[in-house]
Amino acid sequence: MRVPLIYHDDYSPPFPGEHRFPMEKFRLLRDHLVDSGLTDDAALRRPDLCPPDILALAHQPAYIERFLAGELDREQQRRLGLPWSAALARRTVRAVGGSLLTARLALRHGIACHLAGGTHHAGYDHPAGFCIFNDLAVVSRCLLESGEVQRVLIFDCDVHQGDGTARLLAEVPEAITVSLHCATNYPARKADSDWDIPLPAGMGDADYLRVVDDALNYLLPLYQPDLVLYDAGVDVHRDDALGYLALSDAGLAARERSVLRHCLQRGIPVAGLIGGGYDPDRQALARRHGILHHSAQRVWDELHGDAGR
Ligand SMILES: [Zn+2]
Repeated sequence: MRVPLIYHDDYSPPFPGEHRFPMEKFRLLRDHLVDSGLTDDAALRRPDLCPPDILALAHQPAYIERFLAGELDREQQRRLGLPWSAALARRTVRAVGGSLLTARLALRHGIACHLAGGTHHAGYDHPAGFCIFNDLAVVSRCLLESGEVQRVLIFDCDVHQGDGTARLLAEVPEAITVSLHCATNYPARKADSDWDIPLPAGMGDADYLRVVDDALNYLLPLYQPDLVLYDAGVDVHRDDALGYLALSDAGLAARERSVLRHCLQRGIPVAGLIGGGYDPDRQALARRHGILHHSAQRVWDELHGDAGR
């Protein structure tokens, strides 16, 4: 099987090139995955826009409307850190639809990976840290409410804490929030996830991989979720412009293989979302995010043989 990959041309709208947020990385990631032979354009799955009533499972309807209309107030605009445009609004709603499609394809096939997603800072009625709608919370609530899953576990390895997800799902016992993050990175005021694993600045491959392994060996048998939403943020990389951890490319690849194997070997479907990653070298950044998708195919083949590819 070819691991389902989810992408849409809306993901990288026109955007100021010098902005700290690398909006073109989604398109560059798509180009990298095609150029490196992992996929071709026809094989990419295109998501629908996420309907407003699904967004409203995790967000205040008035906030959804204000954002879509470009009417956030100055303070909310400042917390978001992205310049509003109709194309940005469209990509935002499209990307939540993409995470939902990724999760559903993971449930059907065992694994699927998005070329976006992981907007884990967004709160109920406000944006934060480049995040507008929280796909992890929306997807969790949607799949739980529809009965497609009874329990979901969010394994958030972005270098920043998944504070929005923790708050949005605090009252949802069937959604287990787990955040491995650098203790000294944003946000300064952390939320309470079900499991928070704060890591010291400068941590490198070996120590980090031990923490990932221990966490999954404990948490997956404990909760036996029907689905893992994996936020594979690459801002843990030592060259990342924002993150304070120090993983190498090899360490990142080992992390992706470890998380995906832990899930698949236990028969737990896993949906990979790319999460954060910041580097002025946007090509290097695209390759770094692509480690997730390449690892997903490799782990799948290794466990199932590559018959049918
Ligand atoms: Zn991050």
